[in-house]
Amino acid sequence: MINYKYSLYLKNFISRQIKFGKKVGFVPTMGALHAGHISLIKAAKSECDLVVCSIFVNPTQFNNQEDLVKYPRTLEADITLLEEAGCDVLFAPSVKEMYPNGPKNGFVVPKVGAMLTVMEGAHRPGHFEGMMQVVSLLLDKVNPTHLFMGLKDYQQFAICCKMVELQKRKIEMRGMPTMREKSGLAMSSRNERLSVQARKNAAIIYKSLQSIQENKHKDLSLLKQEAIKQIEAEEGFEVEYLEFADKHSLMPSKNADNTIVLCAIWVENIRLIDNLIL
Ligand code: AMP
Repeated sequence: MINYKYSLYLKNFISRQIKFGKKVGFVPTMGALHAGHISLIKAAKSECDLVVCSIFVNPTQFNNQEDLVKYPRTLEADITLLEEAGCDVLFAPSVKEMYPNGPKNGFVVPKVGAMLTVMEGAHRPGHFEGMMQVVSLLLDKVNPTHLFMGLKDYQQFAICCKMVELQKRKIEMRGMPTMREKSGLAMSSRNERLSVQARKNAAIIYKSLQSIQENKHKDLSLLKQEAIKQIEAEEGFEVEYLEFADKHSLMPSKNADNTIVLCAIWVENIRLIDNLIL
């Protein structure tokens, strides 16, 4: 695996590949890689000639400084996992390389519409603006033909699809299924920070979403109340939001047609998100 720290070398390398007609699959990450990330690398490998992964803990998308400081950084282990998965190129830039003029580099936020202000957008002010800033910069540097992202961060994927369209980039978007622990808990680097007990109890999140899915023809507002009650019955669990949304527009949905249920849960000062298409 080639490991680039500087975007100039990366850009030269990729532009040669594109000239030869190669499909370049890109998987942007913040590191602390787990099987969820690796599933994206494998999906990219199966469709593309060359797979590029980036590892960059982007300061501009953290609305909580403690979360940024505590974000796990495990580059050595990440490199081993990427090599095992057959990733071709790693781009692991410094903050200075990404933001030579400082993080406030005059990024004009694409007008993706109301999907920016609901759910994650409402509860994490500035998060998606920072995320779009870094994804946009990374796409300029990597210039991929295909972009692979996880549907675990469903709203992020929807916003990126809209952004890529507005920026008229010629990139094929791929949203990949959520990888889960045996208990059903969606894999996340944040799971490592949970106590053994809380991690076990967190299985209730996916169980509640599944129960909503099984009963989707009933009244959604009642299902929502039941799910919140079920999740909050676990000690220390607090539901930040649990919403039904149209799976394309992400606007509130009152019935199960084309609907996805999304939630954010706090436990032990850690925020977990999950979703399920009904
Ligand atoms: P992150 O490093 O958390 O920014 O995630 C990088 C990419 O991996 C994003 O596209 C995520 O949606 C995706 N991802 C994170 N967790 C999972 C998971 N459990 N299953 C599949 N993809 C995931």
